Amino acid sequence: MTDHSTPLVKLENVNKHFGALHVLKDINLTVSRGEVLVVIGPSGGGKSTLCRAINRLETIDGGQIVFDGRPLPAEGKALAALRSEVGMVFQSFNLFAHKTIRENVTLGPVKVRGIARDKANARAMELLERVGIAAQADKYPAQLSGGQQQRVAIARALAMDPKMILFDEPTSALDPEMVQEVLDVMVALARDGMTMVVVTHEMGFARKAANRVVFMAEGQIVEESTPDEFFTNARTERAKDFLSKIL
Ligand code: ADP
Ligand code: MG
Repeated sequence: MTDHSTPLVKLENVNKHFGALHVLKDINLTVSRGEVLVVIGPSGGGKSTLCRAINRLETIDGGQIVFDGRPLPAEGKALAALRSEVGMVFQSFNLFAHKTIRENVTLGPVKVRGIARDKANARAMELLERVGIAAQADKYPAQLSGGQQQRVAIARALAMDPKMILFDEPTSALDPEMVQEVLDVMVALARDGMTMVVVTHEMGFARKAANRVVFMAEGQIVEESTPDEFFTNARTERAKDFLSKIL
């Protein structure tokens, strides 16, 4: 049975260096099950590194990360299992160019989970329906708009039945008119109870869907508050200055 009382992810005094560069400085952060956490902050502040550390695309060199009650596995089957439990949606959609939309969504379940192809296909169609792309299932990524491709990337992440999804600036590479269709899918996911960590500057999304906002700069968590508090009444000069530039 799922234990809803313990956090899904807990970072304890997490530190990370790239050579002499101290990129994550004593990060302490928990993400509860079903929670939507928005991470916001200036470029170079460590937001992507933080996301990547959670599914161990980056190692850390101090502290620990506990996922679902266990320290992050370092290698082998346990690491593969972790990667399948933590979905990731990037700024650049990273779809497989030579596979159809449907194949993009079934590949993980078939190859990693060993799900039968017809079952994976049926589930893919359900998920493509959910993100509003079912009609494009037999097309290739290049035939879709950026907003559509990003919605496919979300369907692909969902196909693995992840315990959480990390979104790293999912709308930053999109033309402005496509941002909302992707945010709408993310808001719906949030309402359905998906645990999400979302790096974004989209205030509308944060206000609609986030339980908490974390402001990160220079490798540190500078503020942690509700979206309302943060956007109307940021406490630190660092955050006020940042907000004055993006809003
Ligand atoms: P953000 O996502 O907030 O813009 P990042 O986590 O991407 O920040 O980067 C934090 C810092 O770490 C930046 O100074 C960046 O240049 C540096 N950095 C990120 N990845 C690497 C890497 N693989 N090697 C060296 N430096 C890196
Ligand atoms: Mg980044």
